[in-house]
Formats: sequence, C-alpha cells, structure tokens
Amino acid sequence: MPENGERRMIIRARVVASMDGAPIENGAVAISGDRVVDVGKFPEVSARYPGQAIIDLGERVLLPGLINAHCHLDYTCLRGKIPRQKSFTDWVRAINTEKAKLSPQDYVASINEGFAEAKRFGTTTIANLTAFPELIRQLHGPPIRTWWFAELIDVRSPNGTNELVDSAIESVKFAQNYGLAPHALFTASKNLYVRCEEAGKDVLLTTHLAESREEMEMFRDASGPLYEFMESIGRDMGDCGHETPLGLFVGAPNASPARTGHALPKCWIVAHLNELTESDFELLEKMRTKFHVAHSPRSHDYFGHSPFQSERLRRLGFNICLGTDSLASNDSLSLFADMRAFQRSEPESSPEKIFKMVTVNAALALGQQNTLGRIRPGFRDDLIAIPCREGRDLFGEIAAFDGEVDWIMINGRTQSIQSTCR
Ligand SMILES: [Zn+2]
Repeated sequence: MPENGERRMIIRARVVASMDGAPIENGAVAISGDRVVDVGKFPEVSARYPGQAIIDLGERVLLPGLINAHCHLDYTCLRGKIPRQKSFTDWVRAINTEKAKLSPQDYVASINEGFAEAKRFGTTTIANLTAFPELIRQLHGPPIRTWWFAELIDVRSPNGTNELVDSAIESVKFAQNYGLAPHALFTASKNLYVRCEEAGKDVLLTTHLAESREEMEMFRDASGPLYEFMESIGRDMGDCGHETPLGLFVGAPNASPARTGHALPKCWIVAHLNELTESDFELLEKMRTKFHVAHSPRSHDYFGHSPFQSERLRRLGFNICLGTDSLASNDSLSLFADMRAFQRSEPESSPEKIFKMVTVNAALALGQQNTLGRIRPGFRDDLIAIPCREGRDLFGEIAAFDGEVDWIMINGRTQSIQSTCR
C-alpha cells in the first residue's frame, strides 16, 4: 500500500462506530479526497460506489480520529523529569528550572516528537498550547490537524501586554487554525484576558482555571505557597482575598474591580476546573454561556487535585472533553490511557460517554462540530481503527484499548496499514 493510499476508496470494517447513531456491523465508509461521502452497511455502500478500491480492515472497529483538547507539546521532552512534588507551587518551580535548560531547537524537537507520539496513539486533532508561537513557522506541516494556541504570560512584564498579544497573533496566524491562551489568572493580567477576548470572533480562547488547591488559596484567602511565590516575583496581589478563581473568571459580585468579568461572553475552553466551591457551582448554574471544559485525568492524578466533578458539570450543561496535558505531568500522549484513567476514577461512567469526550465533545469545543468528531458524509475523513472482538461490549473495548493504533487516516491519506488491500 503506498504511503498516501488512494484518494477515493471504500473502507470496510467489522464495525463502524460513527458516533452518529448506532454502530454499524459489517460497515463501510466511502471517502473522496479529504471528506467522507457515504457511511453504511458494506454491501450497500459498495453497491453505491462500484469499482472503487476497497480497504478491508477486517476484525476492527473504525472510529473517528481522537481529538486532544488540551496539550503542551513544548514539554514532550520533560517526560519523567519532574517527580511528584509536595505542592503545585514546587512543580511550577521545578518546570521553570527544566525550561531554563532548553533551547528553541530543543522545543522544536520536543514538539515534533510529541506530534509523532500523539499520532501513534490515534490522535488526529490536537489543541496545542505553545509558549513559543514564533517557532510555528519552523515546524513544517504538523502531521496531525493542529489548533495552535499562543500561551501568554505577562506577570513579569505587565506593561508590555498589548505588544505581547499583538506579536503572538502575528506568529500564531502562520498556522491555519489558531487561538490564544492567557495562561492562568495568577500569571496573566486582566488586560491580557481582555485583549485576547478582543482579538476577533474567530480566535479560539483557552486558559487554565481552578487547577489546584493552592490557586484557590491564593485568590480566595490571599495566602498559601502559590500566593507567596507569586508575590515574591513581583505580581500585584490586589486581586487576592476576595473571590475564588472561578468567581474572578466569570466576574462574581465580590471580585475586585481589577478583575471583574473579563472572560465573558466568549466561549472558552477552560482547562482543569478541579477546585470548585458550592458558590462556584451556583455561579456556573446561572451562567448563560456554558464554556467547554478540558479535563486531564492522568495529570489530575499526578497532582492529586480534588475529585473532578464531571457529572455535576455535565448536568449544568458544560461540555466536557479530555486532554493529555503535557508530559511534565503525564507519561504519554495517549488519549486511550486518559480514557482508561477517567474510567478508573468514575467506574459508573458509560464508555460511550467517555469516548464522546475525545471525539464529539472535543470537536464542539474547537467549533468543528460540523467537520470533526463523527464519521458522517461531508465530515473530514480523519479515521482510526483498532481491534475489536465479537460479542464484547464495543465501547467498553474502545475505552479500554491499550496500545498504539496501527491504522490511521488523516485528510484521506492512510498513514500506515497492516491489513488486506484488494
Ligand atoms: Zn495545561
């Protein structure tokens, strides 16, 4: 099979889980170029497209490619470098020490290595935050579909915020799909958040929020290790001691004027949201614009954050997705491993619901609900296949899959294949 495969073909598998209705036994997908054109039972699809090349994937389930909703490929090279720390603040110090040893070329290598690894585990789309948007032009065509988010921090230079945002937009615009990521409330000023919100209606936004207990302590109580650390580097701590992180983000009544309401009404992808109080849940209930939430199960376990309240957030209308986060707090870029970790922490969750968090839900968070996350005519043909055995619970097998994905298609191009072509 040539590397690029055929541009028009029918792909047959024992099951097609299109995420668009019930899984189709003896299913097939017809593709043309970078789009799906037909989905159904194999005999029917092949009759509608006579003479077309057929790839038979045999005893496998064909799935939409996975979408990683939160990742930092910059730090792929930090895998195993930072042992668990006593506190989140110690981890911030440790990653800063590691980052100081890296050159731009190390980061380029790290990002490329991360792309290759994510792809091996079946990820076809990634929301990737980079602290170095100027390096994007050195990365020649990422091998998977990428939303580049320029990660922005102005805590050490609060007077340079406007220039920081302008130059980040200039760099990140080099990518086809892009957005902005003010890092977190403790490192990015209100002005930085506002400037990002004003960047244009098509510019996606993401941020880290309510990740750790120490962030809660810093903002709500004006105390704790993170408070002391941020104060020591010269941050203006005037917004602390009034509100929770979530309260500040959504503009709760008690928030200090320096912070009120900077994050609405645009629809953000909010990473983490681990630490929430009852008053936070009241605010979330009242919110009209329900943002997207990116949860990183294994990174969450690494830090030992409070239990993630996925069911409560879901019931309030929040769209929950999964991301791997970076390898500075995780040990692989496998979303399957994060699905397994999620299932371990919430055994009562249905595997199908978990799988939606890396397909349908994540596509919605990127505004791609009409092109990605499902196998449907008109959608992109980003597809993966994994083994499945007859008589097993299909989604149970999918969410429990442990290994690399040996068949993957992105933009109508097969990346590798070990099955029968005829
Ligand atoms: Zn992150």
